[in-house]
Amino acid sequence: MDIPPLRKDGLPIPVYWYNKEYAQAATAKLIALFRAHASVRTVLFNDTGIPLVTPFKNHDHHFHLELST
Ligand SMILES: [Zn+2]
Repeated sequence: MDIPPLRKDGLPIPVYWYNKEYAQAATAKLIALFRAHASVRTVLFNDTGIPLVTPFKNHDHHFHLELST
């Protein structure tokens, strides 16, 4: 499942984790919420400033949840 990171301006357009419009704290909270769900195994995302994410090619503008079935 692919989920876009949050933007500071709330506009519905893509943002990369290294853009100034990227809202890191809010995105970290969102990822933590997903992580609290037992079926989330791995979060692939290239902003390694967020705890417990795994960098992965082409994951600069979305984070990716790997779910156990
Ligand atoms: Zn992905």
